[in-house]
Amino acid sequence: MIQYNRLDIPVIRHATDVLIVGGGAAASMAAFECADAGVAVIQATKGRATSGTTTVARGGFAAAMGADDSPELHLQDILSHDGELIDPALARVWVHDIVDVVHDLESWGADFIRGKDGQLDLKAFPSHSKRRACHHYDTTGNMITKVLSKKLRADARIEKHSITAIVDLIKRDGRVVGAWGVDYQNGTLVNYQFLFSKGIFPEAFEEHQDMCCAPRRPPGICPWRRETDS
Ligand SMILES: Cc1cc2nc3c(=O)[nH]c(=O)nc-3n(C[C@H](O)[C@H](O)[C@H](O)COP(=O)(O)OP(=O)(O)OC[C@H]3O[C@@H](n4cnc5c(N)ncnc54)[C@H](O)[C@@H]3O)c2cc1C
Repeated sequence: MIQYNRLDIPVIRHATDVLIVGGGAAASMAAFECADAGVAVIQATKGRATSGTTTVARGGFAAAMGADDSPELHLQDILSHDGELIDPALARVWVHDIVDVVHDLESWGADFIRGKDGQLDLKAFPSHSKRRACHHYDTTGNMITKVLSKKLRADARIEKHSITAIVDLIKRDGRVVGAWGVDYQNGTLVNYQFLFSKGIFPEAFEEHQDMCCAPRRPPGICPWRRETDS
């Protein structure tokens, strides 16, 4: 549906269960998870999906894939070297999930370097007591980007909005209920309304609303806002 506001800028409106902001590895993996969970998902990226620093990541990332390694050893290394910057509960989730992520990426075509014995060629990383860096030489991010891009293109469950920057969140009664985007390619504003926030999954919005990365602007800086958009 196209509407015009007082600046005569067309506004396109969408309703979705989940809006994923970004087109890097984190956002793309989240989009796949949402699609697998059966919820309506839109992925909005200010560049093209896939994009971001993921494309230039180089030497690899740590995962406890070796026979002499375990996620708990990985966790110990993280907690002993990164101190109070790390949330231990999140780190524990990470060290276990990243093993599954390696398996998922390989099943989608990721080409992590393997030795002649067929085992992953795990590189040593500083501060890690085991060799655990999965890599594709110095172009690991580029390789992963190609895999994720191909999978994203083939996944019709995920609605992709490229060249669309999310610029503001819409809150009502202290909850995030939507977002504003700018589609630079078509010269339109994009309004997203979240279906979940109407009651199906409200705790997610209460718990995570402060983690959203879209910049907040003082009232008046967003002239396209309707009076009802708080
Ligand atoms: C040169 C370099 C080398 C690196 N090497 C390694 C390495 O060897 N190993 C390692 O583990 N890490 C490495 N990193 C770090 C790693 O690349 C990042 O930690 C990782 O890619 C972050 O992924 P991400 O999906 O969170 O973010 P990104 O890949 O940066 O994706 C962010 C996405 O959000 C989009 N976006 C941002 N704001 C908005 C908005 N308002 N609206 C819509 N879209 C938006 C961007 O366009 C982009 O698509 C390296 C980083 C750099 C720069």
